[in-house]
Amino acid sequence: MSRLTPAIALGLLLAAGSATAATVTIVNTNDPGVGFNDPSIVANTDAGCVVGETLGACRLRVFTTAANQWGRLLSSSIEIRVQARMIPQTCSGNSAVLGSAGPIGAFSNFANAPRAGTFYPSALANALAGSDLDPASDDISTNFNVSIDSGCLTGTAGWWYGVDPSVPAPANRSALLPVVFHEIGHGLGFTSLVNTSSGAYFTPGPSIWAHFLYDTETNQRWLDMNNAQRVASAINDPDLVWSGRQVSIAAPRFLRSPARVLVSAPAGIAGSYEAQTASFGPDVASSPVTGDVVLVNDGVSGAGSPAGTPTDGCEAPFVNAAAVAGRIALIDRGFCPFVQKVLNAQAAGAIGVIIANNTSPGLPGMGGTSAAVTIASLGVSQDLGNAMKANLPNPGVTASLTTDPSLPAAGTRFNCVRMFAPNPVQSGSSVSHFHSDAFPNLLMEPALTGTIFDRVDLTADLFRDIGWTVAGDDVFFAENFEDGPCTFAP
Ligand SMILES: [Zn+2]
Repeated sequence: MSRLTPAIALGLLLAAGSATAATVTIVNTNDPGVGFNDPSIVANTDAGCVVGETLGACRLRVFTTAANQWGRLLSSSIEIRVQARMIPQTCSGNSAVLGSAGPIGAFSNFANAPRAGTFYPSALANALAGSDLDPASDDISTNFNVSIDSGCLTGTAGWWYGVDPSVPAPANRSALLPVVFHEIGHGLGFTSLVNTSSGAYFTPGPSIWAHFLYDTETNQRWLDMNNAQRVASAINDPDLVWSGRQVSIAAPRFLRSPARVLVSAPAGIAGSYEAQTASFGPDVASSPVTGDVVLVNDGVSGAGSPAGTPTDGCEAPFVNAAAVAGRIALIDRGFCPFVQKVLNAQAAGAIGVIIANNTSPGLPGMGGTSAAVTIASLGVSQDLGNAMKANLPNPGVTASLTTDPSLPAAGTRFNCVRMFAPNPVQSGSSVSHFHSDAFPNLLMEPALTGTIFDRVDLTADLFRDIGWTVAGDDVFFAENFEDGPCTFAP
């Protein structure tokens, strides 16, 4: 593999100084007849496959698409080998393991290693060394849940195998490509290599991530902490941040001020209120709306079929559709999916939707997917919902669905991007993701955004921080590897 013909050597010379793509190869580790080797012939396009191909081939296309996307982005002269299989994993009701991944090996003190005594995941170590440090081993191991296709997840018929970002998954399917793209990201190096329950490194010495994980309360790098201090820092939200220079400088280009419901009238409840963004429809940063608020009336109440309340917005058309038209619809959470409520309001002519939680404290989740939603929606607390209702219809409520520029960018602290550090710790998820507060959503957040098919956002910058050479039009700062708190002004 490292033997060069003169023609290839010339090619390398010409390419010197610019990033060259990596070859990312999917290694099918499924047993015969299952997963990628499933011989069933696809009979329709319901799951995004091509009629007449095998289900296994359809599945494999998603993985090779994700692999090629990473290959175009990262530079390495060494083939990156990704073991992949689709096997049954935990799945029932509303909860399932979609997939998991990690590097198979890690290396330190290899040729060209940027930092001594520091472990790099094998794909990155090979790229830096310019040689395969363990030719007998593949680099990344991944597993994905084939049980999703047997309908184990409530409301989900199976995976969506489409690979075109402009064709979102139907409401009853879960897009696989975003999951595979995300998981391979972990295997390439988006992982702390630290046991967040014990604080110990999985490797015999510190990982490259320990140089950049920083606690803004104790003012320590993870590199300089003992195991107990790392355990404490792993749950020290909102003080666990990424101190790498590339991420810190790029963050203002990706992250916006948090979404808010701003109430401008009446004076008694005027203010800026915490809001949950929806995973569907336009985002309020690019499409803010302002208008009078109207509580919907869908005309259905009680325990019959359908069960519900007049204000749950589950039935259409609304009894008060004429009043909703041109205004912001206030709808209660419960009895039907968020997407259904918003589509019903949209059909009535609403310019935006506020979903009030049906429990306190907290915000509604606002999950779901639909390409049909064209109006913005936000979820608010039950308290705010009640306060608005108390002023409807008189004296009336005027509100905006927007961002609040007086607040720092969502998911940041001291101009640093926060890492996911919930208490209690979530093994396998804590620390090795960007914080879920980031807005707009990032590829490497703990909860998957089903519409991120091929966008790498700040993940590319984090990869630069840990040593990857990344292609693309992002600004690249040559003064790499700077530790410490994110004191640089954005
Ligand atoms: Zn993840």
